[in-house]
Amino acid sequence: MNILVTGGAGYIGSHTAIALLEAKHSVIIADNLCNSSSGTIRKIESITGKKVTFYEMDVTVEEAVESLFKTHSIDAVIHFAGLKSVGESVEKPLNYYSNNMISTLNLAKMCLKYGVNRFVFSSSATVYGDNIVPFEESMNLLPATNPYGETKVMCERILTDLAHANPAFSVSLLRYFNPIGAHESGLIGEVPNGVPNNLMPYITQVAKGKLAKLRVFGNDYPTADGTGLRDYIHVVDLAEGHVAALENLIEGVHTHNLGTGNGTSVLELVNAFEEANRIHVPYEVVGRRPGDIAVCYADVSKAARELGWKAKRNINDMCRDAWRFEVHNGTGKTT
Ligand code: NAD
Ligand code: UDP
Repeated sequence: MNILVTGGAGYIGSHTAIALLEAKHSVIIADNLCNSSSGTIRKIESITGKKVTFYEMDVTVEEAVESLFKTHSIDAVIHFAGLKSVGESVEKPLNYYSNNMISTLNLAKMCLKYGVNRFVFSSSATVYGDNIVPFEESMNLLPATNPYGETKVMCERILTDLAHANPAFSVSLLRYFNPIGAHESGLIGEVPNGVPNNLMPYITQVAKGKLAKLRVFGNDYPTADGTGLRDYIHVVDLAEGHVAALENLIEGVHTHNLGTGNGTSVLELVNAFEEANRIHVPYEVVGRRPGDIAVCYADVSKAARELGWKAKRNINDMCRDAWRFEVHNGTGKTT
């Protein structure tokens, strides 16, 4: 298939572009590089030995999106492009609503106009809010506590309504848990803007000596060691989940969790990182981070049953690959 990958120069999009190329699909990437760099496109090509068609463009500009659909015969869209920082979304809600909603509306509109019937959307476990674990796809979504989460819920609803009104339209809503790690080549991975908000990039930067110590946000949660529990998934497994979702997509709306089904606490991740890489990660326990939930992990049985997909890589692989990327590429913006 000829796949339009928006946000394909970013962290998850670039790994997915590789997985798609390896599965013999053709890839067209549209990315405005607001959180990535064009060097990643060359790295995708050098890892796979295949060509990628790249457009530096903003998918909130309808005319630009339309010209893409006119120029190429597109079989499917995987829509990663979006802003993703929870904290920033609270400070700048309009940026988040306009970027994340308008991009999705433009792409959906053009799919309808040009008869593109397969759409895969990057959603998030954040749509479950503080539900009872494990999170199942059939659960009622809880109101998001931030504009970023709202955009995910709203985009899911828009795409669902569109599919209901157009029976030929197929939508895959993929709810990611906590993607970490990097491609095993060490060439592409996650490069956060400024001081990282997320745990794994913070750990790798502490290990590298860029940051003094990790702050563990709370050790009084109702978990075995008191620290927050998350379902970390290797980004390459996540990428392969997209290929499975796309290749098994049939008419209608299909929601799948992409996680491992296992919870790992903050301190367990720190210990695993230290063991996998034989490097010390100093930390101190501080107060809880506002808005954090205690526990979040997926029920992954639906994805296994319907997509024939399961995460294969373990926490040790995630820690090793995240560190390899930090050591080789952790300066400057490479994704
Ligand atoms: P990322 O920032 O690395 O990638 C997003 C890419 O989209 C970037 O390359 C950015 O330049 C591009 N982009 C943003 N707005 C654009 C626009 N208007 N036009 C064109 N390009 C634009 O983020 P990521 O971690 O790869 O996330 C990809 C998607 O997955 C996002 O929609 C995000 O909300 C979702 N998601 C991510 C996580 C996570 O933990 N990383 C978890 C759940 C969901
Ligand atoms: N966390 C932490 N210190 C940090 C960043 C995160 O203790 O510097 C904790 C956070 O409280 C949560 C877990 O690590 O329990 C995962 O946080 P992250 O921001 O990576 O993901 P999310 O909260 O979005 O699931």
